[in-house]
Amino acid sequence: MIFDKREVVLSDIKQILKDHNFRFNKQFGQNFITDTNLLQAMVKDSGATGDDVVVEIGAGAGTLTRELAKVAGNVYAFEIDRNLVPILGQTLKGLEDKVEVIFRDVQKVTDKELDEILGGKPYKVVANLPYYITTPIIMRFLERERRPQSITVMIQKEVGERLTSTADSGDYGVITLAIALEGKAKVMRDVPRYMFTPQPNVDSCIVRIDLDDTYSHVDKAKVKKVIRAAFAMRRKTLVNNLMSGLGVSRENACKALNDMGLDERIRGEVLDIEQFIKLSEIL
Ligand code: SAM
Repeated sequence: MIFDKREVVLSDIKQILKDHNFRFNKQFGQNFITDTNLLQAMVKDSGATGDDVVVEIGAGAGTLTRELAKVAGNVYAFEIDRNLVPILGQTLKGLEDKVEVIFRDVQKVTDKELDEILGGKPYKVVANLPYYITTPIIMRFLERERRPQSITVMIQKEVGERLTSTADSGDYGVITLAIALEGKAKVMRDVPRYMFTPQPNVDSCIVRIDLDDTYSHVDKAKVKKVIRAAFAMRRKTLVNNLMSGLGVSRENACKALNDMGLDERIRGEVLDIEQFIKLSEIL
């Protein structure tokens, strides 16, 4: 894709928003990024390149969409706010052959519709996510049948820490383990709040999750049930949580931990994903 003189330079974006009298909608998590270096760094972090198909959630003013289209094959960008139609028409001008903006609430797009849009091709998710739906979107793409190759998202820093934490740390929990079951997550970089327009009250980070098939043979639904029970009451021991959450007898819960060489008084948060898989198999 050659960017000719008609290309809208990023510094124009704020002016374009002004010209269209655009009002940022807090409810939609509208905090835009206009810094070219950061946008390009995020695209690099995502590893999107060549013929890759990219799904973007929340095109906003199209700043990330454009940088993605420069290096990847096709970009399918969802955007809920129709007030952005004329703005995106302007900022994505000349990229029509590579970019399709779908003006819909991504949460109302069914998996079947999504697969039809993507035409069965492998894809990567890259998004500066609206904060109010961060976890549901990540979980949806992690757990849907046609999973992406990777998910690279800009999210609140604290959430990023939770997704990538290790056993026995304060941030460790159900979501950390749900991700560990599907792939490997890594914080790629921190992004201070002043990089966004308008500036939010929190700092962010970019997290990349590479999905893999390490645990494709595992009964994931069962493992997740055990994990949810183990974290139901954080101050309770694992044995007590297994008893109340899964209806397991004390004797069986203790025996399972003994078989694994674990102390009966431990709490769920000290177990890593391998141990949770083993525990669910024994139970
Ligand atoms: N990608 C742009 C950027 O990096 O500057 C915008 C990111 S902004 C944090 C999130 C965008 O997601 C907003 O444009 C918002 O309108 C859009 N959005 C919010 N909820 C959405 C939903 N349910 N479906 C699709 N887009 C949504």
